[in-house]
Amino acid sequence: MVKVFHEGDLIIYQNGDRFEIGKIKRLTDDGAFVWYSSGETAAKTSFSDMHPLKNAHVITETSLGGMDGKKRKILVHGAMVYGCQDCGSRWMMYLEKGLEEEGDPNRKPVPFGIMCPYCKGFHAFDISGYLKIPEKGYVELPKDASCFENLPDRDCGKPLISPYMKRLEDDEIPSARIFKDR
Ligand SMILES: [Zn+2]
Repeated sequence: MVKVFHEGDLIIYQNGDRFEIGKIKRLTDDGAFVWYSSGETAAKTSFSDMHPLKNAHVITETSLGGMDGKKRKILVHGAMVYGCQDCGSRWMMYLEKGLEEEGDPNRKPVPFGIMCPYCKGFHAFDISGYLKIPEKGYVELPKDASCFENLPDRDCGKPLISPYMKRLEDDEIPSARIFKDR
């Protein structure tokens, strides 16, 4: 069996007849640095002692790696403004790599309507269409921003709402200073 590992994956570490759960911080040629505790120190572990955890996606949060381990690096290429028909709130939803991406034959869609994080109603819709980030290629998800995540076991983007995201005012939608239309 070919074992495939990615940074951020949860794994099982086998040491004789003992097993531990860990989270991959960084891959190297012959193994990975893995967090086994809530501290930020990762231990070098060889691939032969590591096993992928098939249902790792059911564990949505761990304290492995402390604050360092919480961050999954999300690369985005664009965004959409979502607006709530019930309470009028508007906010940016960034798009992770592989979602709604022009020219990518394997691209996945994002839901047109989602739950409004402000009033919890189900009438928040895309009101801007696709907005491309001006930088070439991909950038890291801005701090405190919300996005659609591209998860391997989903065929559609999953909303990841940041409690610290900014509600947009009228003059910020969509901001031509940050975004330009495709
Ligand atoms: Zn609302």
